[in-house]
Amino acid sequence: MTNKLKFFIGNWKMFGDFGDYKIIKRINFFANRSRKLRKKMKIILCVPNTLIYYFQKKIKSRFISLGVQNCHHYENYGPYTGSISASMLKKAGAKYVILGHSENRHEGDTNKIIKKKILSALNQKLYVIFCIGETFDEKKRKKTFNVLKKQIKNCIEKKFNSNRILIAYEPVWSIGSNKVPKVNELQIIINYIKSYYRNIFRTKKIPKILYGGSVNHKNIRSFSSISGLDGFLIGGASRSSKKFIDILINYYK
Ligand code: PEP
Repeated sequence: MTNKLKFFIGNWKMFGDFGDYKIIKRINFFANRSRKLRKKMKIILCVPNTLIYYFQKKIKSRFISLGVQNCHHYENYGPYTGSISASMLKKAGAKYVILGHSENRHEGDTNKIIKKKILSALNQKLYVIFCIGETFDEKKRKKTFNVLKKQIKNCIEKKFNSNRILIAYEPVWSIGSNKVPKVNELQIIINYIKSYYRNIFRTKKIPKILYGGSVNHKNIRSFSSISGLDGFLIGGASRSSKKFIDILINYYK
């Protein structure tokens, strides 16, 4: 295993209340205590919009950054009832934003809209966790690479700051299903994403690449052999400090 910094990003989805700052407090306590580990891991928790301001006031942590899970494609204030823009989220304390999550794609986010969202988030100096991934049907029809290509090509431009983008490969069939890709398949896909990005944008500046989908304390260890994998996007298991901390412990065991 390399000593490179690994990202462990929690996606709380539409769960969480004010009292849940205790989850973050416990994770912070663990990170503070684990001197060796904390240099190797970057912890980010993407919480509901309603909690971000409260949490960042309540918990001043050197080890945990906070993020949110979506934003409107219009960057500032505007007549978009019920929506929240990147600038508003930034002011509320977000440093990261998840965009292109399959649950949002399912509700209508197209590649075109996601691209606008990415641009507005980058303009606001937010870090973008950009999700891509194929459905089970697409996998069965051997369309995985085509889907990933299209999602990257249609949502990202060469001029986007790749230092502020993390690409999370999240096969839709693995989210919340307890199914994960085989390690060798995942290695091939991680390599593919990197080489595709390098080739279409003719650049050596490749974003960090993460895996997400049913990551838990039992399967995390198996991913540690994958080279070029920079971290994980963790849904269900990030809602419990114990489960999240066990993932960190087991990854570095
Ligand atoms: C997610 O929703 O981004 C995710 C990875 O969920 P889970 O870990 O629950 O599969």
